[in-house]
Amino acid sequence: MRQKLNIQPLFIMLACASLTFSGHAQETKKHLPIIDVHVHAMKVNPAFANDLCPWFLKNMPGSDPKQPAPSFLSNGCADPLKAAKSDKEMQDALLGTAERLNIIMVASGDATILHNWHKAAPNRIIPSIGISNPKEMTVKAFEDSLSKGFYKVMGEVAPQYQGMSPSDMSLDEYFGVAEKLGVPVGIHMGTGGNGMANITAPKYRASLGRPFLLEDMLARHPKLKIWVMHAGYPMIDEMIALMGANAYVYVDLAGFIWSYPLEEIHAYLQRLIQAGFGKRIMYGTDLMIWPKLLETSINVIESANYLSEEQKRDIFFNNAVRFFNLDESKFK
Ligand SMILES: [Zn+2]
Repeated sequence: MRQKLNIQPLFIMLACASLTFSGHAQETKKHLPIIDVHVHAMKVNPAFANDLCPWFLKNMPGSDPKQPAPSFLSNGCADPLKAAKSDKEMQDALLGTAERLNIIMVASGDATILHNWHKAAPNRIIPSIGISNPKEMTVKAFEDSLSKGFYKVMGEVAPQYQGMSPSDMSLDEYFGVAEKLGVPVGIHMGTGGNGMANITAPKYRASLGRPFLLEDMLARHPKLKIWVMHAGYPMIDEMIALMGANAYVYVDLAGFIWSYPLEEIHAYLQRLIQAGFGKRIMYGTDLMIWPKLLETSINVIESANYLSEEQKRDIFFNNAVRFFNLDESKFK
């Protein structure tokens, strides 16, 4: 999700670095690499840094406009994920976990935070620049930013929150720049939790998350590589049809895998796999201020018994290496 935490926050266990014995010596083996394609760099606002109950949307509240708005994250679980309370706490926890679990992250958001993370761990952070509205930046400024070399990816592009289709012509030149420079683009398509349109973001429209809305834009930019963030959840049929018609469209699993009911998530992922798109699914978290969410999300994929080990490695790593043209030898 792209919703900012200062408005209202939105949106286990994995093998630790395994110990192996070789001869008499004990050595720590590096964890198999994981690429998280969907991380948000944001300033922590302690006043809004609420803890998070994963799968908090499993019981959509029955509500009434005359009553207080239903809580977004629900703190009612036994063991909520703790929110970081400062930028330093977040950075230390994030980069510490990334080092321990060998995670590389495509991150976008607050430029200062992003530069800090990248400076502290240049091999772990792939900076991404988001634009969802032409008022944020001119096309020239956008192209200059990409040409300077710090940013490697365009995203999160989230026109849905602005009441706009991703094929809106006001964004077209930006996509043209990405196509020209060969920069991959991540576009938010899908849901945003409970009451996004009438409680949180008045311009948001559920219908503007339809994957088919990407088609006109993709037709104008046949060489553009995009990935649909949140896999267009829950519009699986359109997602599958779009990926079939457009050979360079990938998806990420961010956000919905830790917010919607687990059975529902697995049914969605399984359908994508069943439809034959195991090589186009990338792992992502939509991480904001809860460092432990990295492990929670990894475990959703690890525990998917319908996935082979090879399919899991594709989702965690191989598909993103191909999509982002990365040099995989750097992560081994
Ligand atoms: Zn999003």
